[in-house]
Amino acid sequence: MSVPFLDLKAINQVHAAGLEAAFKRVLNSGWYVLGAETAAFEASFAEYCGSAHGIGVANGLDAIFLILKGYGIGPGDEVIVPSNTFIATWLAVSHCGARPVPVEPLEGTYNLDPARVEAAIGANTKAILAVHLYGQPADMAPLQDIARRRGLKLIEDAAQAHGARYHGGVVGQLGDAAAFSFYPGKNLGALGDGGAVTTSDDALAERIRTYRNYGSKIKYYNQVPGYNSRLDELQAALLAVKLPALDGDNQRRRAIAAIYQQELAGIAGLVLPEIPSWAEPVWHLYVVRHPQRDVLAKALAEQGVGTIVHYPVPPHLQPAYADQGYKEGDFPLAEAIHREVLSLPIGPTMSEAQALEVCAAVRKALNA
Ligand SMILES: *Cc1c(COP(=O)(O)O)cnc(C)c1O
Repeated sequence: MSVPFLDLKAINQVHAAGLEAAFKRVLNSGWYVLGAETAAFEASFAEYCGSAHGIGVANGLDAIFLILKGYGIGPGDEVIVPSNTFIATWLAVSHCGARPVPVEPLEGTYNLDPARVEAAIGANTKAILAVHLYGQPADMAPLQDIARRRGLKLIEDAAQAHGARYHGGVVGQLGDAAAFSFYPGKNLGALGDGGAVTTSDDALAERIRTYRNYGSKIKYYNQVPGYNSRLDELQAALLAVKLPALDGDNQRRRAIAAIYQQELAGIAGLVLPEIPSWAEPVWHLYVVRHPQRDVLAKALAEQGVGTIVHYPVPPHLQPAYADQGYKEGDFPLAEAIHREVLSLPIGPTMSEAQALEVCAAVRKALNA
C-alpha cells in the first residue's frame, strides 16, 4: 500500500494540455508581467469570490501584508490573529511594523473563537485577521459584528480556503478584504508562487494595485514607497486553466473527507474535525488529533501512508518571535493542538479506494 500525502504532479498533469497551451501563448506574447493574462485571471477570480476586485500579487504572505499596508496599519498598531495558524499570518502583521495579538481558537474547528476576540481588543487594535484554517471557514458573523461595533477592519486569510462557504456565502467577500495564496499545494495552486487580494473596497483595491507595483500608477512616477509584488503573466495564465476545475476538485476533497468522517468515527483517542452546520469546508487539509500523534504518524508511514504535521510549533514559540517574550503555557490550546495534530492524505486526484486504505491503516495503527 502507498498513499502519498499529496500528488502534485498528478494534480497538474490532469491539466497538461491546457497548461502547455497557456505557456505557449504567454511565451509567444512577448509580455510577461502585468498584462492581459493577469487582468483576465484577476477578473475571473474576483467573480468566483463574489468580490468587486481581484488583485494578483506575488504570494499569500504579500496579499495579507498589502491589505494591512493598504489600510495604513503600521507601527504602534495591533492586529488580532489566531494563536494557531501558519506563521505567514503573523509575519504579515509584523512586517508592517504592527504587533500580532494572538487569540485562542475553538478546539472543534481550530478557528478563531469569537468569544475570546473582544477581550483582546485594545486602544491600538486596528483589525481582526481571521484565518479559514485547513479550508474550514471561521465563524464570521460574530466577528463581523465585533468589527462593526469596535470600528475594526475584518480581514480574511483565505490562503487555505478557496471556494469554502459560510452560511452559503463564499469566502473572499466575508470581510473588508481577503488574502489568497496560489502556492502549488493550495486548493488552487500555480506552478510556482502566486497570491491575490479580493475586496469590494474600491479605495483599498486602488492602493494595493499601486503598492504592488513600486507605488506607481504611471510607469516611473511613484506616489508611495511601494513594493514589487505582482502575479506574473505565466502563473496567471496557468491559474486560469485550473480555476474552472476548482469546485470539482473541492467536491472530490469533500468525498474523501466524508469517508474519513464516517470510517474513523468512534476510535478511542482520535479526534476528528467538527463541521458546523453553516460550514462548507474545502478540506485543504484533513486534520485529526491524537495524544500519541508521533507514534501514529510513524505507524502510518510504515504502512506507506504519507502524513504531515500542520504545524509542529505554534508561532508564539518560534525563535522568530523570541523578542516578544512568550513562553510555554501562554497559549495552551494552540500548544496542545500543535502537539497532537496530524494531517491525513487528501487531494483532488485521490481515489475513494485510497481513502479507505488510509482508514484501514489508521485502524491498524491504533488497534481499533
Ligand atoms: C500558505 C499560507 C499563507 C501564505 O501563502 P504563501 O503564498 O505561501 O506566501 C498564509 N496563510 C496561510 C494560512 C497559509 O496556509
